[in-house]
Amino acid sequence: SIPLGFFSGIGNASGNGILIKGSNYLEALNTIDTVVFDKTGTLTYGKLAVAAITPENDLEANALLSIAKRIEAHSNHPIAKAILSAGETAHPQFNSSEMGFVDLSERYEELSGMGIKATLDGKTYLAGTEKLLKTHQIDFTPLVSPANTVVYIAADGLYLGSITLEDHIKDEARAVIEILKKAHKKTVMLTGDQIAVASAVANALHLDDYHAELMPADKYKIVNQLIEKGHQVAFVGDGINDAPVLAGATLGLSMGDLGSDAAIEASDIVIMKDQLTSILDAFDIAAQTKKIVT
Ligand code: ADP
Ligand code: MG
Repeated sequence: SIPLGFFSGIGNASGNGILIKGSNYLEALNTIDTVVFDKTGTLTYGKLAVAAITPENDLEANALLSIAKRIEAHSNHPIAKAILSAGETAHPQFNSSEMGFVDLSERYEELSGMGIKATLDGKTYLAGTEKLLKTHQIDFTPLVSPANTVVYIAADGLYLGSITLEDHIKDEARAVIEILKKAHKKTVMLTGDQIAVASAVANALHLDDYHAELMPADKYKIVNQLIEKGHQVAFVGDGINDAPVLAGATLGLSMGDLGSDAAIEASDIVIMKDQLTSILDAFDIAAQTKKIVT
């Protein structure tokens, strides 16, 4: 039977916007020795803004942005949201009908952790990581050590240019990491983003470890390896591309602007507030509950 203290612990948590799916997860919180974070939307706000548009050759910046909007039209990734909400700069000398976009055949493929492949009016477009374009044999020169996320764009095998997106580390992130480290928990970040972006965030937050340029399956593998080494691992993510690792961790915590039911389903603890301090609240509530029960 479950001691009554657990129910009050779960009730206490839900009053703080922390939904714990069962008393066993509350108990498991007390055993966690490693906290693994997703980057975009978890350690950072994930509210990206277009910082630079770098078209290739004589393509107009606005034209490149419009093409990117077509490619990203059906994605709910923070990158897509940023591109779709970006205003076209200066004097738009271009609209989609001039490009001959007539909605004949549209096909969108979200390549999780890499970007988008879209077929629009018989042309194949790519928008995503350096790796995405390279695996499609696009000839281009990537930016050198970008400090921000870069989306590279190509059409029918031809490089069109890049769009740079700026994100910001959450205000409370540094303090939360420091408190977790003081509580002897190892802090790790896993991201699909480029190494230069990841290392900037990892250094700013004094994280113990980080891995970049990962596919969702790689995130799962890394967490699984930690578990096999005997660690009790909590994974904290915003749910976008994170469902496998949320389910695979000792404890999966999803937080923030939870777009997908899959993420809520895959996680053991759902944090309604987009605030990293809620993780500390969850640990505190679990520790207090343990005291009441024992
Ligand atoms: P993170 O691990 O930082 O949360 P994701 O796994 O969601 O990032 O995505 C990894 C990388 O894949 C992104 O940094 C981006 O470069 C690329 N990517 C993912 N989705 C898109 C998209 N809709 N458009 C362009 N690029 C994308
Ligand atoms: Mg993410």
